Amino acid sequence: MTRILITSALPYINGVKHLGNLAGSMLPADVYARFQRARGHEVLYICATDEHGTPAELAATAAHQDVFTYCEEMHRRQHDLGRRFGLSWDWFGRSSSPQNARLTQHFADVLEDRGLIEERVDQLVYSIDDARFLPDRYIEGICPVCGYGQARGDQCDNCNSLLDPVDLKEPYSVISGSRNLELRETRHLYLLQTKLQAPIRAWVDAKTDWPMLARAIANKHLDEGLIDRGITRDLAWGVPVMRGGQPRTGMEGKVFYVWFDAPIEYIAATQEWAEGVGADWRGWWRTDEGASEVRYVQFMGKDNVAFHTVSFPATILGSGEPWKTVDTLKAFNWLNWYGEPFSTSNQRGVFMDSALEILPADCWRWYLTANSPEHADSAFTWDQLVSSINRDLADVLGNFVNRVLKFCETRFEAAIPEGGEPGALEEALYAEVSVRLADLTDQFEAIEVRKNAQALRALWVVGNEYLQNAAPWSAIKTDPVRAAVIVRTAINLVALYAAVSAPVIPFAAEKIALAVGETYPPAWPTPDARAELQRLEAGRRITVPDVLFRKIEAADVAAWAERFGGAP
Ligand SMILES: [Zn+2]
Repeated sequence: MTRILITSALPYINGVKHLGNLAGSMLPADVYARFQRARGHEVLYICATDEHGTPAELAATAAHQDVFTYCEEMHRRQHDLGRRFGLSWDWFGRSSSPQNARLTQHFADVLEDRGLIEERVDQLVYSIDDARFLPDRYIEGICPVCGYGQARGDQCDNCNSLLDPVDLKEPYSVISGSRNLELRETRHLYLLQTKLQAPIRAWVDAKTDWPMLARAIANKHLDEGLIDRGITRDLAWGVPVMRGGQPRTGMEGKVFYVWFDAPIEYIAATQEWAEGVGADWRGWWRTDEGASEVRYVQFMGKDNVAFHTVSFPATILGSGEPWKTVDTLKAFNWLNWYGEPFSTSNQRGVFMDSALEILPADCWRWYLTANSPEHADSAFTWDQLVSSINRDLADVLGNFVNRVLKFCETRFEAAIPEGGEPGALEEALYAEVSVRLADLTDQFEAIEVRKNAQALRALWVVGNEYLQNAAPWSAIKTDPVRAAVIVRTAINLVALYAAVSAPVIPFAAEKIALAVGETYPPAWPTPDARAELQRLEAGRRITVPDVLFRKIEAADVAAWAERFGGAP
């Protein structure tokens, strides 16, 4: 048994996440966690909301709430939606937790003790009427490039030019509208990443099994040269800047930058979990206390790779303390919505709450796994969604399970029939299942998301082929003992399907498992297909589940395209 620590990139707090967020980190992490638990490993799957920073403050203001209340409600909402999608987090924490504040302050202390943090003086825009410094997004004005009237301090949304707040003409505060602004000096802490270039390079070079996408992004940043990075901000919402447990002189009221504290929450959320359930967290994170035996796997979108391969390592390697670092890093590309990326700020695409209003979670889980934006961007289309559900789930898996169990109910009084011996068709089936099961297990193990969906579907197809060749509906008329062998074998295959499908479509897998009297969640099958397909005892009662996957009609798609957009 191996201990496997899994984290998926922390969803930002400013709203319900879209299906691209789900497909690019949380869902594949969950599928992997479920697979490894079924294999008998000790798995800890940690996630959390990333709550600090200016966008959270802006979203709270837009919702007419204080930022604390806003984050609390949005965390609860994201947690609830994740559960309804079947995300089997062991803990879904919050980066605003006291654990994260303490740990973030600890890292800053240790890094400063090691000469890796220094104070510098910056010039920033100060709003006299608001009595505060304004972050870039809190300043708007006329774009110096295109003349657009509401360009933000960091970027013009009209011409996409990257801007500095001092470039804006006639700038004003987003908070009050005041134009009473001036440049003031302010002190900030800088993490001296320039001093960490060599150790981070050596660490990345040692990660020879990282996927190409992750290595390429890390090396690009290292080749360009790391720069010293401001890790504090003039904001109220965040982890307070402290030194040795006391407010830091001259930096009262300042907080750590959200990108400094957010990845530390992976560790802090594990502490939250440990305190919540009475477990030990250090054995998962401190290599001097057992974590060197842990395999740590991270899941994230490609936009997060630099932070996980350079910035966060700068914090934990720079500390000189024995923290666990990532072993396997799985990065994803974008899921696109009719030519453009899904987008929270533009409300483009389908979001997790409305997705569940139109289809069960398993349908989305299967579609987003089979069409994962894994090695390249992938395009969401209603056509592909329909095809994934109607052809794969309804016609192949659902149809097989229902035919077999219905036949058993009508012909064998809903009990697994006894008698007879396996024949040539069963021998061929054992061989076929053995090969396909081995392939499926390999793909899951390698976190090859699309390939494991293909391998799973290929295994489902075997059932329908077997039933077609064995034809129990004919055998029952001439040779009832032969029909008993076929039905018994097919029901064993149903049980095997419940086990191998559970990581991807857990809700349907549970219904299937219970229908054939299995416990849930089932253990992963052994490689011995012959034994697996003769495992269930004769006489066991079965039930016929309701339709497992309802087929999608053209009218459904028309209504969805009307509601969400996208060509029908
Ligand atoms: Zn512009």
